[in-house]
Amino acid sequence: MMRYLFLFFLGACALPKLEYHATPTDLEISEVVVLGTAQDGGRPHPNCWNACCKDSAKEPVASLGIRGQTGWWLVDATPDFSEQVARMGEMPKGIFLTHAHIGHYLGLAWLGREAASSGSMPVWCGPRMAEFLRGNGPWSQLVELGQIEVRVFQSGDVISLGDGLEVIVLKVPHRDEFSDTFAFLVRRIEGQSLLYVPDIDSWGDLTPSIETLAQSCDHLLLDGTFFSADELPGRDLSEIPHPLVTSTMNLLDTVPGRGEVRFIHFNHSNPLLQPASDAAEAVRHRGFGLAQTGDRIHLMPEELQRK
Ligand SMILES: [Zn+2]
Ligand SMILES: [Zn+2]
Ligand SMILES: [Zn+2]
Repeated sequence: MMRYLFLFFLGACALPKLEYHATPTDLEISEVVVLGTAQDGGRPHPNCWNACCKDSAKEPVASLGIRGQTGWWLVDATPDFSEQVARMGEMPKGIFLTHAHIGHYLGLAWLGREAASSGSMPVWCGPRMAEFLRGNGPWSQLVELGQIEVRVFQSGDVISLGDGLEVIVLKVPHRDEFSDTFAFLVRRIEGQSLLYVPDIDSWGDLTPSIETLAQSCDHLLLDGTFFSADELPGRDLSEIPHPLVTSTMNLLDTVPGRGEVRFIHFNHSNPLLQPASDAAEAVRHRGFGLAQTGDRIHLMPEELQRK
């Protein structure tokens, strides 16, 4: 792992965005696969008996696969770990964790004795998450048995995956009960980049700003937990703060030259989980996208742009 100052991260981010001129061979080399789009509770959501969960197909919890030439890396180990790994066709070469909320790390349990019994699976996470895993069962058993190998990152770190890919770590403000929370910028070296921010309390406290990041990244998968404030009657949204999708669109609407923005991490109540809903249509009409499980986002190399 190479470690850079945070300013270096800004520099890495400030690469010009690239245009698509790819060949099929190039398409297969570096891509990010969407493995799920639901908020931590998934769909069906426990104790929801409304139409959103009763009448809808299962939707896995938000997660990504970063695929390179020699394998792939999982971003967040969700409760749907087994089916998400199955979709990729082999075990990952490593796992990146954003934070210690249930949708983002419980899947590590499937690496233990009762299931895959992996050997030294690299698990990259922040310092508090590492402490949490080492200090609490059943996660501590994964560490003690050598089934996972915890690798600690700091905000601003650039982690090389080989395969011409790297992951840049960015701290984000979130409800940090058991761990700090991070976003990841996946970058093809001398190629396109993708920012993944599944959970954040507010864009206002992010450095660099989301407007700057939108301008410097080619693809962005952003917290779309709630479309509007009236989705959770009876729950105090201040206890579970997220920027509303409508607010995020207002913020990014006028940012010139922004990358392609898709929303992800949808609460079961969010109408954006229904692609045919009026809300989904309104998002698309404003020039934003909705992540769907199975989406493959290609990270293009720079030289293709020059052809
Ligand atoms: Zn979450
Ligand atoms: Zn529901
Ligand atoms: Zn969270």
